[in-house]
Amino acid sequence: MRKLVVNLLPENTGALKRVSTDSTDVTAPECTSFSPGLPIHLVDPVPFQEFGHVRTITELPAQADVVIVGGGIVGAATAFFLARSGRDPLLIEQGPELATRTTSVSAHAIRCQFSEPENIAQMSESLRMYETFRDVLGDASVQIDLTQNGYLFASTEEADVDVFRARVARQQELGVGDVELLDGDEIRFRFPWMSPDIRIGSFRRADGWIDSVAAANGFATASDASVMLGTSVRSIETAGGMVTGVQTDRGSVQTNMVVLAAGPWSRNLAPIPLPVALWRRHRLIVDPDDRIPQSAPMTIDANTGAHWRPHRGGALLAWAQPETDREATWPVEQDPAWLDLILRSDRGVTRLAPFWSDIEPSLNDQNTRFTAGLYTVTPDHKPLIGKAPGVEGLFLNTGYSGHGIMGSPSGSRLLADIVARRVDEDDNPFDPARFGAGTRPPDVEKIVL
Ligand SMILES: Cc1cc2nc3c(=O)[nH]c(=O)nc-3n(C[C@H](O)[C@H](O)[C@H](O)COP(=O)(O)OP(=O)(O)OC[C@H]3O[C@@H](n4cnc5c(N)ncnc54)[C@H](O)[C@@H]3O)c2cc1C
Repeated sequence: MRKLVVNLLPENTGALKRVSTDSTDVTAPECTSFSPGLPIHLVDPVPFQEFGHVRTITELPAQADVVIVGGGIVGAATAFFLARSGRDPLLIEQGPELATRTTSVSAHAIRCQFSEPENIAQMSESLRMYETFRDVLGDASVQIDLTQNGYLFASTEEADVDVFRARVARQQELGVGDVELLDGDEIRFRFPWMSPDIRIGSFRRADGWIDSVAAANGFATASDASVMLGTSVRSIETAGGMVTGVQTDRGSVQTNMVVLAAGPWSRNLAPIPLPVALWRRHRLIVDPDDRIPQSAPMTIDANTGAHWRPHRGGALLAWAQPETDREATWPVEQDPAWLDLILRSDRGVTRLAPFWSDIEPSLNDQNTRFTAGLYTVTPDHKPLIGKAPGVEGLFLNTGYSGHGIMGSPSGSRLLADIVARRVDEDDNPFDPARFGAGTRPPDVEKIVL
């Protein structure tokens, strides 16, 4: 019997909520529109965008004040906040440009509806930064297309009414004053395409999404950090428990400070074991279609985890399916069966938004783009930010557990404050040492996708 595990956990139990179904329940009609070998588009084909002027260098310096490994949104934000606090970072990225890996295949979305206080605080700070991004960066030309259509979590289960009521009350107590508890009628009044079966939901208008590739390039440009592209860090060198440099495929750099921000690859590079697992997550982008309401929020089926949002006249669909740990690769191989689940099964997006059943027959590999990426997941679904235990000079900024677009501005500001000793380790809820022996087990984030 195969179970679908849904990661939207009831706050009151802390237990995994399981939707019991055997595999036959999720077997959908034969896929006819899609061929299994869909082309992999690594990055959204955006209209040509000039991302400002990242200061790329072509020769690796012999020494650096601080080396950042990885040029996704996390590495780029790290460069910005370290530079703003007076450091002189060298950012090393193996890809040909910044933010072409996990960041580029994400859903690019931001929400403050979480269960844990530190996650609410982190996402709230990040969202404020994205709302005032030009001022934060001091760059009036940067465009990240912040779209605040909101996030709607909705359930068809009567039993979830109390769960949602408690969740919204807690979020409001924790400072998210504008999250609303909506019954089914109110949801259908605001979003008339939604299913008559919906019983309860929570909605926050200010949640939304951005162009995170543009945000990463904006951070890197504003940092004025030296950026070495097309260069792979092979190892972080240490002597006597202290960082001494990095070895790359183009030579070595001496430094006594390294920030590891290599997303799913961080685990391979860290000289200590990292408490992370890599989970595959799929995403489907649907080309513009008049039948897809562009005023829709990010809409999450709280009973299955299937979710979608408008995207440039079309839509972006994703799903939190159970996955087991895997190795970091690029590109990440897709499972074509996922398309049946999200589009054609009775647990996919049609359950809450029935109009998808009208659209589905017209989808094919010409008008969609199917990608997969990896979540870097920690045991409590909170990032690892701060000193790497036992290695002097090594800092971690990774493990965002599916929330790196929304978490990294605040997380990287925190990292820079830790480096500058403006924040004490005891005041850091994301201290990588929190899973060590003798520490209190951390509280697990329950509203994860
Ligand atoms: C389908 C999907 C949907 C998602 N949706 C959301 C969402 O809506 N909101 C949200 O907040 N998060 C979302 N996420 C998670 C988010 O994408 C990640 O948390 C975030 O992109 C992590 O950024 P990163 O910079 O750590 O990783 P990456 O973007 O992967 O960047 C790491 C970089 O390190 C580089 N690197 C690796 N090894 C080396 C090396 N040895 N030398 C040099 N460079 C190296 C890589 O080339 C890469 O560019 C989603 C993820 C997926 C897969």
